[in-house]
Amino acid sequence: MTVQIAIAGVSGRMGRALIEAVAADANCVLHAAIDRPASPLLGVDPGAAWGVTSSVRVTDLPADALRGAQVLIDFTRPEASLNYLDACVNAGVPLVIGTTGFDDQGKANIAVAARHIPVVFAPNMSVGVNLLMKLAEIAAQVLEDGYDIEIIEAHHRHKIDAPSGTALGLGQAVAGAIGRDLAKCAVFGREGVTGERDPQTIGFATVRGGDIVGDHTLLFAGVGERVELTHKASSRATFAQGALRAAKWLQGRAPGLYDMRDVLNLK
Ligand code: NAP
Repeated sequence: MTVQIAIAGVSGRMGRALIEAVAADANCVLHAAIDRPASPLLGVDPGAAWGVTSSVRVTDLPADALRGAQVLIDFTRPEASLNYLDACVNAGVPLVIGTTGFDDQGKANIAVAARHIPVVFAPNMSVGVNLLMKLAEIAAQVLEDGYDIEIIEAHHRHKIDAPSGTALGLGQAVAGAIGRDLAKCAVFGREGVTGERDPQTIGFATVRGGDIVGDHTLLFAGVGERVELTHKASSRATFAQGALRAAKWLQGRAPGLYDMRDVLNLK
């Protein structure tokens, strides 16, 4: 079965990764490419600049683009995503949202739209990271007593926030699995005379440098052994691959709000 895929934000970094991923996937067809009004790409073949040619031309008219599409994949900005959300509801087209940074109202709008169309909404579409979250919960339940829990993450020199959202998500997954409140037990960095480690804490350490796409290690340090769960992203292709997996999974799905754990059957 091939899936007719529309992509929003094709001028963006993720938009490009998605164009390439669709072109490389025998089960996906690029149906339409959407960019913002006044984009220099309007009317252009979206992948031509990097050798992925198609008969599709970039448009700023979502309603036109969605006609005949089986799913829209959107990695843009919240205000743009909410417009595409409305267009998908009107057209009855399933939606994959990878955009991050929605406020509560935006999230509420997505939940309302998901009563009418199926939506996968996930801040991290990497298959490996979502599996890591599940493994983290299992490990935490087994290693709750006698093991110190630390989360170490590394990202490129341009990242402006710390720790990463994924590191915090890992912390939430671990804390939730063993009944701790992350807001109370998280320790972000250590310096000077810190005293002995409190076994109830979950520590975070951050590394920044070079072009590291994103490494996360969850460490359980016990007496006589350590368990480390590590994920390393080497390119944005991992997020595009996850988005395509979500797009295929949505086919024939009932309206509802889903995340990558649903897609990967990890719930
Ligand atoms: P980017 O390179 O800045 O691309 C953003 C795209 O959205 C561009 O095509 C941009 O067009 C378009 N856009 C921005 N504002 C718009 C508007 N008002 N109307 C229509 N189009 C608009 O960003 P990126 O790195 O691709 O990331 C995009 C989003 O995906 C971010 O929210 C990022 O956090 C998220 N993300 C999520 C995952 C995940 O796994 N869920 C992974 C990576 C990134 P212009 O260039 O013309 O402004």
